[in-house]
Amino acid sequence: MDKKREGAGIGRRRVLQGLAGAAGFGLATAGAAAAPALLPRGEVKSWDITTEVLVAGSGSAGVSAALEARRAGAGVLLVESLPKLGGSSAMSGGVVYAGGGTALQRSLKVEDSAEAMYNFIVSAGTLHPQLDKIQLYCESSPEHFDWLVQQGVPYKKKMTSAKGLPFGDESLYYSGNEQAWPATEAARPAPRGHVPGVPGMNGGRSLMEALLARLAESGVATRAGLAGRQLVVESDGRIAGMVVENEAGQRLRIRASRGVVLACGGFIHNREMLKRYAPELYDCSVPWGNAGDLGAGINMGIAAGAEALRMHQGFAIAPMYPPENVLSGIVVNQFGQRFISEESYHGVLGDAIAFHQQGRAYLITDDQSAYQMHQDNFPLVAESATIGDLATLAGFPQGALQHTVAYYNRFASVGRDPLFHKSHHYLRPLQGPPYRVWDLSVNRAFFPAHTFGGLHTDVDGRVINSFGDAIPGLYAAGRTVAGLPTAPYAASGLSVGDCTFFGRRAGRSVARQEVSA
Ligand SMILES: Cc1cc2nc3c(=O)[nH]c(=O)nc-3n(C[C@H](O)[C@H](O)[C@H](O)COP(=O)(O)OP(=O)(O)OC[C@H]3O[C@@H](n4cnc5c(N)ncnc54)[C@H](O)[C@@H]3O)c2cc1C
Repeated sequence: MDKKREGAGIGRRRVLQGLAGAAGFGLATAGAAAAPALLPRGEVKSWDITTEVLVAGSGSAGVSAALEARRAGAGVLLVESLPKLGGSSAMSGGVVYAGGGTALQRSLKVEDSAEAMYNFIVSAGTLHPQLDKIQLYCESSPEHFDWLVQQGVPYKKKMTSAKGLPFGDESLYYSGNEQAWPATEAARPAPRGHVPGVPGMNGGRSLMEALLARLAESGVATRAGLAGRQLVVESDGRIAGMVVENEAGQRLRIRASRGVVLACGGFIHNREMLKRYAPELYDCSVPWGNAGDLGAGINMGIAAGAEALRMHQGFAIAPMYPPENVLSGIVVNQFGQRFISEESYHGVLGDAIAFHQQGRAYLITDDQSAYQMHQDNFPLVAESATIGDLATLAGFPQGALQHTVAYYNRFASVGRDPLFHKSHHYLRPLQGPPYRVWDLSVNRAFFPAHTFGGLHTDVDGRVINSFGDAIPGLYAAGRTVAGLPTAPYAASGLSVGDCTFFGRRAGRSVARQEVSA
């Protein structure tokens, strides 16, 4: 390992200050009832299991880390708290956001560049993201896609221009906000959503089947039903291992002589953490993720002195489309005012509703923008033959909705949207009854959410404490980490892309770490 790189940057006093801070001020209690705290190495009389690298969590981040650590020559044990491997990654759409000229893009004659991809992600995302991670990710994206192909993830040379995750077997689509204003002004749009070429919502399963098949051949030892509970720390601050608990409640001490990788997912199912850190996500009606999304990795890291970043952020989703025809309706807030281009990616729209409109919004449709089939995602609030009656029935402030629709129609009829530059694909006046109001509010609609906040890591997955130093022996990846996905979530695939890419880097990095005595 690069002892020089890691050791030199770490002032022992600072590490100890970090640890003392964590213990002294009770940061270790940030989790649910069974909050993890650090276990001093001196209290471990003997180890039950010994390995070089211990990975906690079997989603796309943990498996990518384990594979690369093993390929770099390390002995690896991966533990998973649930009986089955795969995590939220296996439930997901399996979309990986990749670009800059991937093999699939090139084979479909799609023009793209790392620069355009970088500009899109930076412009569409949060304030002050980790630019070094974004840059590295964009520049390495073609190589990372090749790696996924090498693992056996099945992509098809097929693309669709339809909005939303392909229902067919297409493997490339516009998975985010690339074609909506203001993203259109930041970068030339390109389709970057790479999804396994399998019909239906089976991309995540397909991706994880491939990664888990490689894992099974790799020589990585795996143990399901073992949940990481506490990190074990040496007196000099280095992470020495982890205490895990099996389904019978028995605790085992695992020594990890090169290091530990925390890849335990996010915390959408830890309601206490959610209320404390991300109240806007708490209010969303559907916590999205597998049952292991309890924040254990984040809390173990915090207990070891790690800094946690962007804990309030997450993916709040208003899945208004498909069908695309509804995008020619308008979305308004509780005051009857538009606040976004309706064609925005559902993560961008969801973020605007959850974080900037007090969780409340409404879709107004006319005959052409109506849902043609019955749908349960959004309750119908009111229906009427005129906008005036509709506004009264729905309870908008007097005259507000009428004003919004009149202004919108006036410009839409000449092909313009001065406020939000909605594109001509979806821009036309609302003018055919019946008019309807649909409730898009976070607690009334089908409004899934998951978390983005997590541990601060560098591009090699080393966990950073609040003094800016790496905690020796501690690595993390995936949604245990504050990574590429930031709010508003600009495109599907940034999460699994981040998990697999930076999971790989964390695995290589921990494998380089010197074996401790
Ligand atoms: C329905 C759905 C669709 C989605 N679609 C997409 C998509 O197409 N593209 C995209 O980028 N994102 C998508 N997401 C989000 C994405 O799936 C997740 O953000 C991502 O998979 C997280 O990966 P991970 O490896 O960090 O965590 P996970 O895949 O959740 O894996 C973490 C694992 O760690 C285990 N674990 C937890 N605590 C412990 C512990 N203490 N000890 C040991 N193990 C532990 C968990 O049980 C879990 O198996 C989707 C999410 C959902 C729910």
